[in-house]
Order: sequence, then C-alpha cells, then structure tokens
Amino acid sequence: MASANDTIGTAITSDDLPFFNSFAELPPAFYTRLMPTPLPAPYFVAASAKAAQLVGLNADDLANDDFVALFTGNKVPPRAKPLSAVYSGHQFGVWAGQLGDGRAILLGELKGPSGPMELQLKGAGMTPYSRMGDGRAVLRSSIREFLCSEAMAALGVPTTRGLIITGSEQGVIRETVESAAVVTRMAPSFVRFGSFEHWFYRDKPEQLRTLADYVIQTFYPELAGDPNPYKALLTEVTRRTAHLMAHWQAVGFMHGVMNTDNMSILGLTLDYGPFGFMEAFDSGHICNHTDQQGRYSYANQPQIGHWNCFALGQALLPLIGSVDDTEEALEIYRPEFGQRMDALLHAKLGLATVQEDDSGLFDAMFKLMQDSHVDFTQFFRQLGNLRVDDAAADTVIRDLFIDRGAFDAWALTYRTRLRLENSHDGERKASMDRTNPKYVLRNYLAQVAIEKAQQKDFSEVSRLLAVLEKPFDEQPGNEHYAALPPDWASHLEVSCSS
Ligand code: AMP
Ligand code: MG
Repeated sequence: MASANDTIGTAITSDDLPFFNSFAELPPAFYTRLMPTPLPAPYFVAASAKAAQLVGLNADDLANDDFVALFTGNKVPPRAKPLSAVYSGHQFGVWAGQLGDGRAILLGELKGPSGPMELQLKGAGMTPYSRMGDGRAVLRSSIREFLCSEAMAALGVPTTRGLIITGSEQGVIRETVESAAVVTRMAPSFVRFGSFEHWFYRDKPEQLRTLADYVIQTFYPELAGDPNPYKALLTEVTRRTAHLMAHWQAVGFMHGVMNTDNMSILGLTLDYGPFGFMEAFDSGHICNHTDQQGRYSYANQPQIGHWNCFALGQALLPLIGSVDDTEEALEIYRPEFGQRMDALLHAKLGLATVQEDDSGLFDAMFKLMQDSHVDFTQFFRQLGNLRVDDAAADTVIRDLFIDRGAFDAWALTYRTRLRLENSHDGERKASMDRTNPKYVLRNYLAQVAIEKAQQKDFSEVSRLLAVLEKPFDEQPGNEHYAALPPDWASHLEVSCSS
C-alpha cells in the first residue's frame, strides 16, 4: 500500500526539493535570472491535491509556513534557478513587440510520475519585462486562474495546472485596491508562440533555431529525426492547437485573450484572465469586457486559433525554409479542427455512428440554442435524459427553451437519427454524461468564492475545487453548483484587469 512517505513532500522541507531547470540551460538571451520579491505575512489560500501529485508533493504539506513562503517567493530553495522568460507577441491582431514574463517567475522543474513539470510563480514581483505593470497578481484573478486550470484538467481539456494560491495583505491597485496573491502554475513548458515570434521579429535566426531545437528535443523528441523537424514542429503544434480549439468549443470555454503570447507551444490552455464558460448560448458572446470588437468571441475562437498558428508559421519560416512547406504544415488546421469538432459533437449528442446529414442536425441545434439563449451546460446535460420513444418525458429540457415548439421539431429529427442507429437510452445517457459536464466554473460561482476569500474565508475555494474536480458526476447535495446564474450575476464583467 502506498504510504504518505511515497511523496517527496512529506519527508522534506522546501529546501530539499530536487529542483532542476532545463530552460535555464539555454543561453542568457532567453531570460533574466532574478529573485522573486517577497510579500509581507503570506498566508495559505488553497492547493490542488491532484496537481500536487503530478510533482510528487502532498497537498496537505503545502499549507505549512515553509511551503507558503516558497510559493509566495519569500524563500528560494537552493536548487531552484529562478528566471523570467522573454517573449513577444501579437495582441488583438497587432504586433506588440517585446512582452515577456512581467510578473511570472519560473522556479525550475520537479519530476513527477508523468514527467517533469515547470513550477512558475505568477504575481511574484517586478521583472525586466514588467513594462508599466507592478509585477503582482490580485487574489481575485489568482483564484480564477487556479480554479479554472483544475476545472479544465478535470474536463479533459489540455491545460496548465494550478498548484497553490497564497495571499498577502499587501494592497495592489487595480480599479480598486485589492489584496496581492501568488498562484503557482505548472506545465511541462510555458514557451509560447510569442517566444518564437520574438526572435523572428528581431531577425535573430540563431536564437530562433536554438529555441526550436530545445522545444523539439525536450517536448517533441519524436520529431527530431524528421527530414524537416521545424516543419514537423509547426505541423504538430498546429494539430494540437486545432484540437484545443475544438475542446474549448465543445465545453463552451472562452479564453478571452487569445493573443499569440498566450498560446502554448504544447497546445495547452494558457493564461487564464477574462475567460468564461458559455451560459445563455450566444455564438457571438464576448467574455472579455476589454475586447470591444469581439475578436475573441466564442464563434471566432477556431479562426483565431488558425490565425495564431499562421503567426507561428511566419516566425518559423526561416527555419522551415520555404513558404510552400510552411503553408502545407498550416493546412492541416481546418481538417484537424473539423474532424475533432465533429467527433466531439457526435459524443455530445450520444451518436455512435456518423451519418450523412449529421452536420445539418448540429447546425439546427445551435440555431435552436441561439434563438432561445439556452444554457449551454444544462442543455447538453439534459439532452442525455431524453428517451427515444417518450417525447412526453421531455419536460425539463423543453422548459429550457423559450420556443418549445422549435425544440419539439428538432427533437423529432434527433429521435429519428437516434433510431437509425438503434440507440439505447441507458447506454447513451451513460456515455453522454461522461462527455457533457454537469459542473463548470460559472462566473458567479467563482465570484462567490472570491468574495468570501476577500473576507479571509477560503473554504468556498476548496469546496468549489472539489466540485469541479468531478464535473461529470451527479454529486448529490451539490446540485446548486449546477444552477443557472442568479440575477445579481448578470452584472458581472470580467476584463484584462488582473
Ligand atoms: P496577459 O494579457 O495577461 O497575458 O499579459 C500580457 C503581458 O503583460 C505579459 O507580458 C504579462 O507578463 C504582462 N503583465 C500583465 N499584468 C502585469 C502586471 N501586473 N505586472 C507586470 N506585467 C504584467
Ligand atoms: Mg499572458
């Protein structure tokens, strides 16, 4: 039987953590070595046991003063090599020049059961890349990033992870004065599309190659032997990005700031700022209050994912060698997105086979959802309860619609389609319940947890985390976490302020 001592965290203090840092092996041009700036009187807010497991830590230990100091940046273990990375990027479609880790400090990597993970403190103080910023993160946005990272992981969507949040009384000025926090996030790598664009736009092909070789050798070793490994890298990143976009669309996730500096070279969801989960369905919904043009609306995400891959392709062009090869790598985006989206939609509707007019059925469904502004998560979850031969039992799902007649008409087509493959009600519901979550991080749920945390009651953060870790389970007693947003939540706005 596994004992608590199997994890590295139980027997040791933070000083003993076997940090290493392969990114720090790159030449100094790629980063600045620096120390985090301590925060006064740090306290523990929450930790994720599942994330802790990934680096062999025990979440209970993370609440100790020693680990709280470590994950606030107040002490740095001897083997850590803290650094902030430089990158650039396109923001809202416009070249923004140099950005970089303005408030994130990479401590190094820890090895876990599924490989090394980088641990990065977000909000740990100013860096040479802070520009106008203060190097800090507020408790509000740290809780949102932490909860959503872990929620997405539980939904099966590729993502960076949230390990721990610590807080401090230190005031941070945003629209109002808020309290400072540090969220420690983890990923095999935080290299972004913008990390490559940085060297392309500076006309530094040597550095571009060094970074590409590092990424290939470390994260895509299977591509190293390819006749054109850089084209293979672009192909693979394009594929992963297309799949990621399909996953986002399928769970109704909206990122809010899909700038190229927020696009992971590993195809992970990266940088949780003004994100949101679709509630009342509107394909044009814009979750980021700052994004007035709606560049990053729900409907635009797949296309923007493609645009961002083009930006990466442009940056890798000098290594790939020809425009034709670069375009060929990018061409897989549309079919990869289409196939993955199609497969996910079939799963969401509990369809085991592919039939000719399935896309017509899907299109009609989205039109129906749009016309009635039906709640995205509730609709798909309720759809699993539909019985092929009992339309009279449709009351709950029907009541989600303003135009019930329109639902009835669509449901008729859906039932005909289900009969075509002799769909079994029980089996279909079981498989749909494994793909259509009951619980997602609705903005109002995060807001309730944040407001309590701002009053020093952190219990709701942990409770909500526990609910979101099992998004597909019914969780009797927790049904209120699946409820539609209350009236007060209609005024909630999320912006880039974090
Ligand atoms: P984002 O759009 O949140 O991903 O941030 C874009 C850039 O601004 C990145 O280079 C961040 O590191 C930087 N940044 C955001 N907030 C701050 C802050 N409070 N202090 C310093 N840099 C920041
Ligand atoms: Mg960012």
